[in-house]
Amino acid sequence: MQFRSTQSDDSLVSFKDAVLRCLPLGGGLYVPASVTDMRQYFLYMDFNTSYPELVATVTPGLLQGELNPFSASRVAESAFDFEPELKQLDDRLSVLTLYNGPTGVFKDFGIAFLAAVMEELIKNKGFAMILSAAKGDTGASIAHAFYKRQGIISVILYPSGVIKGLDPASFIQNGGNIIPIQIKGTFDDCQRLVAEAIHDRPFADRYGITSANAINVGRLLPQAFYYLYAFIKVKQHLQEDLIFSVPCGNFGNLIAGLYAWKFGIPLSGFIAAMNANNAFGDFIRGKEYIPRPLITTNSPALDVSQPSNYKRLVAFYQEAPAVMRNMVYPEAVDDKATLAAMENAWKRHQLILDAHGAVAYAAAERYTKAREDYGHIVILATGHPAKQAGLISEILGRELEVPEKFRKLQHKTDPVALIDPQLDALQGAIASCV
Ligand SMILES: *Cc1c(COP(=O)(O)O)cnc(C)c1O
Repeated sequence: MQFRSTQSDDSLVSFKDAVLRCLPLGGGLYVPASVTDMRQYFLYMDFNTSYPELVATVTPGLLQGELNPFSASRVAESAFDFEPELKQLDDRLSVLTLYNGPTGVFKDFGIAFLAAVMEELIKNKGFAMILSAAKGDTGASIAHAFYKRQGIISVILYPSGVIKGLDPASFIQNGGNIIPIQIKGTFDDCQRLVAEAIHDRPFADRYGITSANAINVGRLLPQAFYYLYAFIKVKQHLQEDLIFSVPCGNFGNLIAGLYAWKFGIPLSGFIAAMNANNAFGDFIRGKEYIPRPLITTNSPALDVSQPSNYKRLVAFYQEAPAVMRNMVYPEAVDDKATLAAMENAWKRHQLILDAHGAVAYAAAERYTKAREDYGHIVILATGHPAKQAGLISEILGRELEVPEKFRKLQHKTDPVALIDPQLDALQGAIASCV
């Protein structure tokens, strides 16, 4: 599989190049140039296939020649000491739990694979610096996945505020490979600095700079694997259409699902579940997309006014606009409906969902109400309920136990450097650390 820029399709790069230099020149993002039919690899997998087994089998097929089966096994084993879980709730509804990773969000899956595959790709012959912008628990997820990876230094840029969930023992001055840097600015400043540093070619080449943000296809592509996993777990009960309900913020998860469909999963569509920040639904329906001001909701990871995967979605829709309109159904769920869905999921299925999962649940309910014959829906539960323990105990009237690993995510730490939001300041800080 090769990759092209969303801005042009004339120069193709390998997976390794797309991962290690994650932004093409010219302002685009990498997307697969053509998609491999993977059915021979996964159609005959059975219910007992473990997640690392699935990843180890599918990856060499996907990355033809770039990763042999032994390397792929090492990557899968070292990335995944956690697995997704598929629970069937009734004939027409299942939930795919994606929050079993170290920080309790589905992003752990893509980040863990990226860290392991990068280590394998540069093994014995190189070095890399992974430069990422972080908010929420993404910094902790990146620090966890990249800690002690051979030949890799991980620089994490934080906006003004507090830095939580990192272990100072992993910091570079204490013998580790993690460098948290606080930027006197916003998350957008951090993202801009990542792009600027990658586009400063001499500087980027000196350190081998790439990113663990979703701009990196090495993080996006492996998110397709858990859709395959869901399919092999439900297929024996499947008598009708398969549909996924995906809570959407930056639309990375949905894009990964669309790749999984292209790999050959026989599915009939996706519900793009948005909260009140739903301007992107217009684009999906084929209308003009006009970003609207951000609304704060109780599903904060979906509070996005301009999805960072916009260019990838546009590229996907350009190929077959009519097909896409029949594949992706946008639904918008406000806070009130989200909380009602949390209650319904508990009453009907003894299922505890956080607000992000509840948005997907509510969207699925709406979708089914509008149709008689709709098939089997798999809801993606993207965030661990214990991370919204307060909200959930308010709604369900029961206390949740908060695992110790999530308590540690609240520990505050000092950055290794605090700098102005300028590229030269960032370059100076990096040079003085390594
Ligand atoms: C990031 C996140 C999402 C949104 O995923 P996108 O790929 O940005 O659409 C949904 N739920 C949770 C819990 C998240 O952390």
